[in-house]
Amino acid sequence: MINIKKQGLLEQIKADIVTNNICPDLVAGATNIVMGDGNLDAQIVLIGEAPGKQEDLQGLPFIGAAGKFLDKMLESANIKRSDVYITNIVKYRPLNNRDPKPDEKEAFWPYLLRQLDVIKPQVVVTLGRHSMEYFLPGQKIGEIHGQPKYVKMGNKKMMVVPLYHPAAALYNGSLRDTLINDFNKLLQIIDKNN
Ligand code: URA
Repeated sequence: MINIKKQGLLEQIKADIVTNNICPDLVAGATNIVMGDGNLDAQIVLIGEAPGKQEDLQGLPFIGAAGKFLDKMLESANIKRSDVYITNIVKYRPLNNRDPKPDEKEAFWPYLLRQLDVIKPQVVVTLGRHSMEYFLPGQKIGEIHGQPKYVKMGNKKMMVVPLYHPAAALYNGSLRDTLINDFNKLLQIIDKNN
């Protein structure tokens, strides 16, 4: 069942991004804003970097090649995509899939925090360094991937599990194995540390 109250609050965040004209350079090249998708009462929120071409066209996160790989990993980890919520730090596609710029990530960060405040997940899973660096500044993904970390958000402590980005792992055999392995441990990590 859709949580109508949360849906309304998330719609307001989207409206605020549009009204406040966040990243007009990105807006100029984008077809759709990609706010996120999934269960509004999710215990797990996954956060990627920014929409790619397919995501921009359809207005949904992780539905292209990286999304298909993510689906497989979720399935093999026994996590239903319909049970989690998936979003990105940057809500518009950067042209030619370039990396989001620091000022773009910074501009969207408060809106991401508002999304998390609405959904109130138990755990945030960052996919790749662009979302990780905001939750865990100064840390290196190669050193901390797959490890639960605790971050203070307002007066609450939240678990953050940093993982590699599926697109980075897609064509790199050893990263791929590492990411699959981290995903397969996710439910165990969450259970053990909550
Ligand atoms: N990569 C991301 O980081 N996010 C998407 O939504 C798609 C690909």
